Amino acid sequence: MTTGWVWHERYGWYDTGRYAGVIPPGGWGEPDIHMENGETKRRLASLVSACGLSDQLHSITPHVASDEELLVVHTGKYLSYLKEQDAQFRGGVADIGIGRTTFSSGDLEIARLAVGGVMDAAGAVARGDVKNAYALTRPPGHHALPDTGLGFCVFANIPLAIHDIRKKYGVERVAVVDWDVHHGNGTQDIFWNDPNVLTISMHQDRLFPKFGLVGERGGAEAEGSCLNIPLPPGSGGGAYRSAFERVVIPALAKFRPEMIVVASGFDSGNFDPNGRMMLNSGDYRWMTEQVLESARQLCDDRVLVVHEGGYSAFYVPFCGLAVIEALSGIKSPADDPCLERLVTNPMLELQPHQTAYIDNAVTTLKCIR
Ligand SMILES: [Zn+2]
Repeated sequence: MTTGWVWHERYGWYDTGRYAGVIPPGGWGEPDIHMENGETKRRLASLVSACGLSDQLHSITPHVASDEELLVVHTGKYLSYLKEQDAQFRGGVADIGIGRTTFSSGDLEIARLAVGGVMDAAGAVARGDVKNAYALTRPPGHHALPDTGLGFCVFANIPLAIHDIRKKYGVERVAVVDWDVHHGNGTQDIFWNDPNVLTISMHQDRLFPKFGLVGERGGAEAEGSCLNIPLPPGSGGGAYRSAFERVVIPALAKFRPEMIVVASGFDSGNFDPNGRMMLNSGDYRWMTEQVLESARQLCDDRVLVVHEGGYSAFYVPFCGLAVIEALSGIKSPADDPCLERLVTNPMLELQPHQTAYIDNAVTTLKCIR
């Protein structure tokens, strides 16, 4: 069986508008482009095509998610607000508080196409049409809440897809592993009281939105269904490997999911302007292989990887390609030109202060049911 692949040219067209990185227009920030722009993901799609790998993947055509599909997680008030914003001449803002989740007029349909893409990929894995799948969708989703967008995320792509496969295919227990540098707060909140969805988030300690602490373990009806592994800035492959071996893999084994979904952000990569971690393409390949091995033992290989953040236009494509190569078992001819130099840095090894963080996270394992 092959690996499913979701990409649509229109994901690259979602236009976050006139911005200076994360600074809104006005004041002294000279207008430039928004940090969340189409280049990182468009360039990953381009690399997957240029190296010939896309020809060997099973292409999945995404659908545009309907109001009915969105309202399974999101409120009617939020959806009405988005429609009003979308109808404005220059577009609007999806997050009501901070104002960084911008879109241009007509882009609401592209956000629906992102939801549809993740749903269609999840369905293909659940049905067994493909062995696993990579959804290269945009805008991202792991910060979005039922009543507002947040952190460049408009809709909760992964939670919506999980609800969909539960309804259509009877998949009950799902684990989400989030290695984006930011806390997967939206996924955590949406499944806070659901004992059948395990959310695991590895992230830079208190970067964004704010929390994601070890003590957040799920609601009263679902204690242990939420597992946070905050790591200190500067963590590299050593810390992530230790966290995987000591927390993520045992947690998955204990929970016994029927499918594993990865919220794959590449902003924990070495060159990212928005995070301070030190992962390279080899680390993302290794983490993907660990998830695949857990899935082989626990859930008939069922894995869905969904693209979240990642803001280095030149490096995200090589990290994403490594993940897709691991999923498909196909090595493309496109090697990461930075890898040889990056792996020689001795600071990638596990440091004592990072071990203390992981020791703390290990304590959450006893809560998992
Ligand atoms: Zn992120």
